[in-house]
Amino acid sequence: MTVENILTVDVEDWFHICGIERLIPEASWHQLESRVRMNTMKILEVLRRKGVKATFFVLGFIAERHPDLIKRIEGAGHEIATHGYAHRRVYEMSPDTFRQDLKKAASIISAITGYPVKGYRAPEWSIRDDSLWALDILQQEGFEYDSSMAPLRIIGNPDYATIPYRLILDQGHLWELPPLVAPTPLVNLPLGGGWGLRIFPYNLIRSNILKLNNQGRPAVIFLHPREFDLDNPRIRLPLVKKFVLDARIERTGKRLARLLDDFSFTSVSAVLKRVNKN
Ligand SMILES: [Zn+2]
Repeated sequence: MTVENILTVDVEDWFHICGIERLIPEASWHQLESRVRMNTMKILEVLRRKGVKATFFVLGFIAERHPDLIKRIEGAGHEIATHGYAHRRVYEMSPDTFRQDLKKAASIISAITGYPVKGYRAPEWSIRDDSLWALDILQQEGFEYDSSMAPLRIIGNPDYATIPYRLILDQGHLWELPPLVAPTPLVNLPLGGGWGLRIFPYNLIRSNILKLNNQGRPAVIFLHPREFDLDNPRIRLPLVKKFVLDARIERTGKRLARLLDDFSFTSVSAVLKRVNKN
C-alpha cells in the first residue's frame, strides 16, 4: 500500500521571522505590506492541480487580518491548524503567555472555520528541552497533535525522534510530528523544508522519503508562502538568517511539484485518522 506523506504550510507573512523583533516589532506589522494572500494562493493552485490536501498552520495574526484567506483554504478542503498568534518562540514565553497566545489564535481561527483547532506548530520549532511544558498545555487545551520538535542541533535536539510518534503526558497523549531529516554519522540534515529542502540534492530528499515509506512511515514536509515569492521586501538581516530564508528560493515551486509527482501527500488529520483506526 502507498504510504501517504504529510504536507504542511505555515501561513505567515514575509516579516514573520523569529529573532528580528527589534528590527520589525509586532506593533509595526499592521503597517507593512502583506504578501501572504498572493503567495498562499500560489500554493493552493498547485495543490488544486495535483488534487492534494494539506495542513495549514495559520498564524492567528494572519487569520485576524485575512479571514477570507482562511475561508479559501478551508473551502478547498484543506485542514486548518495553528502556528500561534504572535509568532513568538515558545521558550521565550512563560507558560501563561504561551497558553494565552495559543488560545487567542485558536479562538480566532475556529470562529472562521466553525471547528476546533486540533494541531499546533511552534514558530522556529521552538518546543525544546527548556519548553517541554508547552506539550502539557497543548494537551490540556484539547490539541491532538503538535509539530514543533526538530531532531536537529541548534534549533532542536538531535536526540528527538525522527518519525511521528505518540507522546505520553501526565494527563493524556499528543501526537508529535517531526520534520523530515536525513541521519548521517555527524548530524541530522534538515530536508523537510526551509533551506534544506531547497539546497540539498533532490535525490537525497527523495531517497530519505522512500526509506521512511518503505518502513510504512510518513515524511513531514513544510513550506512557507514567502518561499514562493521572488520579490519579498528586502530587509537587512544577519548573513545566516538571509541564507536560511532566501538561499535558492527560486527552487521551492519546482521542488514541491517534483515531490507531488513522486509521492502521495495529505493532511496531518487524514494520516492520524488512519493510524488511530489501526
Ligand atoms: Zn513561522
